[in-house]
Amino acid sequence: MAAIDGLPPLRDVIARHGLDARKALGQNFLLDLNLTQKIARTAGPLEGVTVFEVGPGPGGLTRAILSLGAKKVIAVERDHRCLPALAEIADHYPGRLEVIEGDALKTDFEAMAPEGPVKIIANLPYNVGTQLLINWLLPRQWPPFWQSLTLMFQREVGLRIVADESDDHYGRLGVLCGWRTEAHMAFDVPPQAFTPPPKVTSSVVHLVPRQNPLPCDVEKLERVTQAAFGQRRKMLRQSLKSLGGEALLAKAEIDSARRAETLSVEEFCRIANLL
Ligand code: SAM
Repeated sequence: MAAIDGLPPLRDVIARHGLDARKALGQNFLLDLNLTQKIARTAGPLEGVTVFEVGPGPGGLTRAILSLGAKKVIAVERDHRCLPALAEIADHYPGRLEVIEGDALKTDFEAMAPEGPVKIIANLPYNVGTQLLINWLLPRQWPPFWQSLTLMFQREVGLRIVADESDDHYGRLGVLCGWRTEAHMAFDVPPQAFTPPPKVTSSVVHLVPRQNPLPCDVEKLERVTQAAFGQRRKMLRQSLKSLGGEALLAKAEIDSARRAETLSVEEFCRIANLL
């Protein structure tokens, strides 16, 4: 029995339900419940909070979130093999775990959000993690339906999420995250912490929405960052040529000899607002 909840150890759960990890589903499981509790704690207090989780798998992170007092977990899992293991957790925490079998990329989390505080916590499948993050950053309403995102990514992606113009990892993702959220790196998780171990180190990233991000049309911002970082070593007068080049940059009062990676989020928004 595991100390945090009296349920069987995850290794037994995986063996009993035949949950051999599938690479195509990005399955790298966390079996250490102390570690999953550390991830869940990064989200702050969970009492009274509904948590959306993507990819609960055998349920290590789900159990941690429930053990820390979340009001409810709504978990979206694509692999139907995991459902019986998750049903055992649901029995242990009556009325507090709802599992939806499906593809998180096709799930309308905003429409599902209940009244009251919502946080999103997930050890994401690497192949869909960035797209899910972008979807959560672009909901129909802002401030969004969630209070925070606590997400595991490959370290490389985590660095891009928290990067600003002082950083080599700065790019389109950093601008989008920096515009709408305050994002910080919480901690790294080595490959050996997962079963099976992935090739690279992972990182837990925590994002909190800005209540009043700079007013900016997201599609225009995307057009500017796509053009600017598409040719990141070129001067802006060249990389932004198709959007107005010199004239646009002069209106924005930005030196056209600068490169994309030197522009702050505020400067990107200023250019986008002039399109
Ligand atoms: N949360 C578990 C843990 O921490 O041990 C498992 C994490 S594992 C990295 C990713 C999980 O996401 C797997 O259980 C996988 O089946 C699931 N998954 C993969 N693609 C998915 C998708 N598009 N929608 C929902 N779940 C998905």
